[in-house]
Amino acid sequence: MDDLNMHIDPGPSAAHQMHRMKLDPARTEAVLISHCHPDHYTDAEVMIEGMSRGGLKKRGTLLASRSVLEGHQLHGPAVSKYHRSLLNRIEMAEVGGEVKLNDMRIRFTPTKHSDPTGVGFAMETREGLVSYVSDTELDHQVLKHQEGSRILILPLTRPWGARIPNHLCTEDALEMVKEIRPEMAILNHFGAKIIHAGAEKQAAIIEKETGVRTLAAEDLMTVQLGKIIRVRRN
Ligand SMILES: [Zn+2]
Ligand SMILES: [Zn+2]
Repeated sequence: MDDLNMHIDPGPSAAHQMHRMKLDPARTEAVLISHCHPDHYTDAEVMIEGMSRGGLKKRGTLLASRSVLEGHQLHGPAVSKYHRSLLNRIEMAEVGGEVKLNDMRIRFTPTKHSDPTGVGFAMETREGLVSYVSDTELDHQVLKHQEGSRILILPLTRPWGARIPNHLCTEDALEMVKEIRPEMAILNHFGAKIIHAGAEKQAAIIEKETGVRTLAAEDLMTVQLGKIIRVRRN
């Protein structure tokens, strides 16, 4: 985004997926990690090695929650001192804080999740606001911080009628999309029940109820944000 190559929440097989997309990790400029659960951080050190060209050059930025950087209660830390030493810049992502990466302002937004230090990322790009909400349950505070998003990226863990604590189910995501009314909602972070129930079906329910274009994320999918939003599926 904005000519900046960022990698958000490099979970399991992130490096492999980059290889499939012919993306070079050495061109990554920033790694962002929202919280300290393995589906969000397992490939973090791999990405840092890639960014720093195998440790040959101190390079790149890491923005990460307190749990990822220092550890918090039962969580983390998730990035070794060695890998931290390979980076040019490390910033702790805490709710209410913000950083600038080149010209882009990134605000750290609240989540309500089992890692209490988790954050979402509200990225103010030249083309408008892109909000990566990260793992959370439906909550008024969380919702409030997504206002004005052109693209709302929601972690949909459970399908319709299968709510669990700390996560969003389809009814919750629908509520958020209805309230925020982004130009596009993108659902990711599917749990096994969603895979069985059909991620596309959950997206269709939300789109039908809200009139907001809603997509179920797919591997290798690209989204281009300009005056209009273009989506390419592979
Ligand atoms: Zn989580
Ligand atoms: Zn997760």
